[in-house]
Amino acid sequence: MTFRATVLTLYPDMFPGPLGASLAGRALSERTWTLDTWNIRDFATDKHRSVDDTPAGGGAGMVLRPDVLASAVDSVADNRPILALTPRGAPLTQARVRELAAGEGVILLCGRFEGFDERIFEARDIEPVSIGDYILSGGELGAMLILDACVRLLPGVMGAASSGEEESFEQGLLEYPHYTRPVTWEGRTIPEVLRSGDHAKIAAWRHEQAVNDTRLRRPDLIERHGGASQAPPSGARRRDTKADLK
Ligand code: SAH
Repeated sequence: MTFRATVLTLYPDMFPGPLGASLAGRALSERTWTLDTWNIRDFATDKHRSVDDTPAGGGAGMVLRPDVLASAVDSVADNRPILALTPRGAPLTQARVRELAAGEGVILLCGRFEGFDERIFEARDIEPVSIGDYILSGGELGAMLILDACVRLLPGVMGAASSGEEESFEQGLLEYPHYTRPVTWEGRTIPEVLRSGDHAKIAAWRHEQAVNDTRLRRPDLIERHGGASQAPPSGARRRDTKADLK
């Protein structure tokens, strides 16, 4: 099944942009996923093709008009979820990305200026999504980011190298730290345990590192997942991507 992405934007020329390169780009040319972009301005109705107007109640900037947004959304809507990029949305999570990637695709609505007239969220089934607690100049980079996160999970895109299930966030923790050759670099040596060949010990060490780093850098994750009670990854399952470091 092909994952279909539709993007509604004032800057369709920004796409595919970085999504045309590397894994996502190859998957796009192999039609593992498809991308179509629509210019929101094409749904304007007045002779100036205006898509925005001044904020009711005053204040700086311009607001995207609900009537124009609705025509754009209605022209592409089908069974796929519709996500609007906005810092007022719920933060995107890997769990939501997994759900999206398992579906038929996604419709992404990119904001500009001060953002969307709020009534669009009442009048249409649109999920407001944030990509983090900072402000971008537009939703396009956020849309690309969501698509990148989804596409890498599509069957065949990442290959056998990584199932992704040990990665950061998948178990409510950051991933453990990685090392590769040279074994000693600038006087720093790869932790001994990783060179021991003892896969149970390695799994336990990695889990401990993951918990420590998460506590230190992302205490919010520990909190959200009910303390650091996570079990270590099942048994001594080894990664099969690389020969042991000797
Ligand atoms: N005035 C708005 C920000 C507008 S930024 C506010 O304070 O909430 C312009 C557009 O950039 C937004 O409509 C949105 O589409 C996009 N954008 C900016 N920051 C974002 C973020 N953190 N997550 C998702 N989209 C964002």
